[in-house]
Amino acid sequence: MRILRTKAEVRAAVHEARSGGEATGLVPTMGALHEGHLSLIRRARADNDLVVVSLFVNPTQFGANEDLGAYPRDEHRDAALAEAAGADILFAPPVAEIYPDGFATSIHVSGITEVLCGAHRGPAHFDGVATVVAKLFQIVAPDAAYFGQKDAQQVLVIRRLVRDLDIPVRVVACPIVREPDGLAMSSRNAYLNPAARQQATALNRALDAAESAVARGETRADAILERARAVLATAEIDPEYLELRDPEDLRELDAVETTALLAVAAQVGKARLIDNRILSASR
Ligand code: AMP
Repeated sequence: MRILRTKAEVRAAVHEARSGGEATGLVPTMGALHEGHLSLIRRARADNDLVVVSLFVNPTQFGANEDLGAYPRDEHRDAALAEAAGADILFAPPVAEIYPDGFATSIHVSGITEVLCGAHRGPAHFDGVATVVAKLFQIVAPDAAYFGQKDAQQVLVIRRLVRDLDIPVRVVACPIVREPDGLAMSSRNAYLNPAARQQATALNRALDAAESAVARGETRADAILERARAVLATAEIDPEYLELRDPEDLRELDAVETTALLAVAAQVGKARLIDNRILSASR
């Protein structure tokens, strides 16, 4: 695996692969790699000839009071894990390579960014995500790019960006990878002390409770959300949001007619955690 720092080096490497007829897969990450990231890299490895993993803690997607400074960084460890999972290139640029002096452009995807994490973290978050991902698509020009369903709203934002700006990349969403006790893997789980780590398992259990209610025939959003909220309350978690929304356009749903996205965000100890589940009506 090669570690590249500049856009020019990445372009040259991908260009060479493409002229040999090779397909390129891109896995964008902010590092602190865990099995969730590695599942994306393995999928990219299975689908492509050249696998590029980007490692960039993107400052523009962090709010002023968020954890940019504290975000876990260990490039040496990440490089070893990415290589073992099948990466050919680790693109780990310095901030000035992505945002040179005078950088003045931002991409805003409207509508679907105005709810859930967009409403709670503010519009700058998804603007930062859309802008950096658009830049990575321009730099790497991958045939396919791999994202985790853990960040369900992010996947929708990227799909919309790709469609609206006619970017020729296939967006592949991969399943959420969980710890043995169900907690969705996240780089931010490192912030949890043992008590908060235990408390955090309630997020997945809340989604389970909602899913069981739907499996038993419940369709009303109020009743489904109440089941999930009760599990969170038992763990003394007051969610930032817990909402049932259309999995494609994120409009709020009163009922699960076919499928629904149940999404939750909560501050647990020092970590802001998110999780979600696609619910399917049992009929
Ligand atoms: P991040 O480094 O947190 O920006 O995440 C990079 C990519 O990994 C994103 O597409 C995430 O959705 C994905 N990802 C993070 N956690 C998980 C997980 N537990 N399961 C699957 N994908 C994940």
